[in-house]
Amino acid sequence: MSDPAVPVLVDFDQADPSDRELLGGKGAGLAHMISMGLDVPPGFTVTTEACRHFLRTGEVPNGMWDEVDAAISRLEAKLERTFGGGPAPLLVSVRSGAVQSMPGMMDTVLNLGINADLVETVASWADDDHFAYDAYRRFIQMYSNVVLQLKMAPFERALSRARQEAGAKDDTELSADDLRRLVSEYDGIVRGQGAKIPEDPRVQLRQAITAVFRSWNTERAKTYRRINHIPDDLGTAANVQTMVFGDLGPTSGTGVCFTRDPSTGEKTPFGDYLPQAQGEDVVAGIRNTLTLDDLADRHPAVHAQLLETMERLEKATRDMADIEFTIERQKLWILQTRAGKRTAAAAVRIATDMVDEGLISSEEAVLRVDPAQLEQLERPRLADKLDVDAVVTGIGASPGAAQGIVTYDADRAVALAAEGKDVILVSPETTPDDIHGMHAARGILTSQGGKTSHAAVVARGMGKPAVTGAAGLVVDEETSTGHVGDLVIREGDPITIDGTSGSVYLGLLDLIEPQPTPELERLLAWADEIRQIGVRANADTSEDAAKARAAGAEGIGLARTEHMFMGERLDIVQRVILADDDRERRRALRDLSNSQVEDFEALLEAMDGLPVVVRLLDPPLHEFLPDRFELQAQMVDLARRGKSIEALQQMASRVAAYEEDNPMLGLRGVRLGLVVSELYEMQTKAAVNAVIRRLEAGGDPHLEIMIPLVSTVEELRRMRDMIRRVIEETGRSDLHIPVGTMIELPRAALTAGAIAGVAEFFSFGTNDLTQMTYGLSRDDAEGSFLGRYLEEGILTSDPFQTIDVDGVGRLIRLAAREGREANPQLQLGVCGEHGGDPDSIAFCREVGLDYVSASPPRVHVARLAAAQAEIRRIQRAG
Ligand code: PEP
Ligand code: MG
Repeated sequence: MSDPAVPVLVDFDQADPSDRELLGGKGAGLAHMISMGLDVPPGFTVTTEACRHFLRTGEVPNGMWDEVDAAISRLEAKLERTFGGGPAPLLVSVRSGAVQSMPGMMDTVLNLGINADLVETVASWADDDHFAYDAYRRFIQMYSNVVLQLKMAPFERALSRARQEAGAKDDTELSADDLRRLVSEYDGIVRGQGAKIPEDPRVQLRQAITAVFRSWNTERAKTYRRINHIPDDLGTAANVQTMVFGDLGPTSGTGVCFTRDPSTGEKTPFGDYLPQAQGEDVVAGIRNTLTLDDLADRHPAVHAQLLETMERLEKATRDMADIEFTIERQKLWILQTRAGKRTAAAAVRIATDMVDEGLISSEEAVLRVDPAQLEQLERPRLADKLDVDAVVTGIGASPGAAQGIVTYDADRAVALAAEGKDVILVSPETTPDDIHGMHAARGILTSQGGKTSHAAVVARGMGKPAVTGAAGLVVDEETSTGHVGDLVIREGDPITIDGTSGSVYLGLLDLIEPQPTPELERLLAWADEIRQIGVRANADTSEDAAKARAAGAEGIGLARTEHMFMGERLDIVQRVILADDDRERRRALRDLSNSQVEDFEALLEAMDGLPVVVRLLDPPLHEFLPDRFELQAQMVDLARRGKSIEALQQMASRVAAYEEDNPMLGLRGVRLGLVVSELYEMQTKAAVNAVIRRLEAGGDPHLEIMIPLVSTVEELRRMRDMIRRVIEETGRSDLHIPVGTMIELPRAALTAGAIAGVAEFFSFGTNDLTQMTYGLSRDDAEGSFLGRYLEEGILTSDPFQTIDVDGVGRLIRLAAREGREANPQLQLGVCGEHGGDPDSIAFCREVGLDYVSASPPRVHVARLAAAQAEIRRIQRAG
């Protein structure tokens, strides 16, 4: 049973706009607009509570249909229209509306209330046969799709046949008779699929409301929620609203507009308009749209009224608004408003501009930008001047450049991306069923649609470059080819798209690194004033360190020294580990040592004045030693050529001695440091020498040395003693180089109090800590059952991306508390991937860590997320 105190239905003009949880975003927006006195077609919201009840039990709450009937009667009385009768028939739309907007993901039925008898009544009421039959055929198609879940292809085929036979470019050019014939053909298609559309509008309405509720659980809606971290149990409201008609002759039309440019944030009204059309036509991108300026030419008074409404809505909501409107015979109706989806660049610009305009405070501005979105701004772009011509140009719908191979199919995009390929999804237009392919693709290119088409809106939301409405491109989906004049673009061809200018190029063009805008610098400066947790970067090269510093990193939280040994130096590391005698090992170590001093010096120089945590070697041995099968193949080859295989045989047997069934649980980190003790000693000497050289050069180095994979205090004690001895041996015992440890094994966390007696700092290695706590290999996690767990809701988020607060988080909390109790000076940080994840950063702040360390492209993300965590913490407390 639902809670009787919670209403299952509320009229728009009776609803409390602040109750978004109950009304959903659309319902709340409608209630708000009515309270502002805007012209909104009347209607009512069947609440999210009713939906949740339905999803839980499979039944609507008791008495709900009576309430729906009563609400319809109220509408009839108010408008002097009749639902299911004449002379003025009442038609309604039924639309979903979740608390957090999920554009296009759930279902909508328009023109509900019409049937075979009523179509003539609608025709005489509107004095327009064409309109009435078009409304009816649209209803049949939508109802068949959403409620009856019939196959849509036969409907599409019948429509395009009708267009061809009539020689019509689009539906508006079909005559009333063409539409009449089409309607009876549609009728046959419905019956042919063994279904029937109920004649009784009240039954239609009931079925449409439950279909909208059910659409919460379509695959595409679930995918969208997973991508956007929206909980699965919220449910959607269903809004029943009086239809107004944008297709009622040439003085009608429909459109979508934004109060500011959602791509750049510029303060100019922005939108698409389609004369003689219904709202879905704009979003579906099936006809190329006109601009708001075109609307001004055609209907100046309506255009002026629309601009005024946009301004009022923006002032009232203090945010950029996305508005759906319909013009019915010159009268403007507002059908919906919500906070507009925007690119990261637009979000930053709008937030800072609104501070200057006195609409919001700088603290609100900091909260307005989704930190995860900031990674988009790190996206490369095309140079301003190019020496190649675009092969086709459309609308720059979502900025930034993307490149990859062309695919015309969403499923194939997913498969190719899984193989590690960069793909551009190309399509006449996208639909909500393509969401998985759009997510997998680097960028999206459509031949149809405008700036507010499905492809445009979703790509902006996902932060992916998109070009829409490239009308010169003709996509043939059957043969998976695209044609631009004589040129053929095939599956697998490489292309580059520029979602800023709308240009499309053949081949992979050079891209340039982006620079932070002054608006972003301002926003992040506000964030820095607010945040209480430090932000460092994980960097192993001086280039990365410099990049991170420029992005505002306050030091290096993790320099993985094994990354310095990849490439040509791998061979030397192998010689150190596999050496048969001390001489051979010493020689190899000397070779490594020289390059290590330079590595460390470069890092310390790039981060002069700031802390640099150098972690001693932590190679899972399977990544570092030669592959035994490869050695065998080489031996076979040598033997075939009559050469000696003795040396390789020896090496193979030494490799075999180190072979492990579970290398992640084997001779790694400090364990290797203790077994092959010369390695860590060499690294320590190199690091201390780098400090001395930097001091001699007048620098200000702040080296810290970190030991990985510690599980017992004794491991750390031995290493600390070794490091102290090495420092003493340099004759510079005045140097203070803090020694600390990763906390990345559950045992280390559980014995943190003892370990803190020896450590000067802890850095939580949440990648390993997650792996070891879950007993789930991080290398295999991605392709493993984890995906299935997430899909089925067994896990609600990927623990390798967001800290599992209940399990791994509990270990961190305990280790932080017991560590600090034992050693109040102990510095605490995190350096796993979670250091750049906004939710995890909030957790790190809550448990009192001093800093997070993120990969360089996520330093901006971390600065902003840390500030938001602080603001929310204060809000919760106060
Ligand atoms: C970790 O385990 O979280 C960590 C930072 O170390 P690595 O990823 O190098 O194992
Ligand atoms: Mg680790």
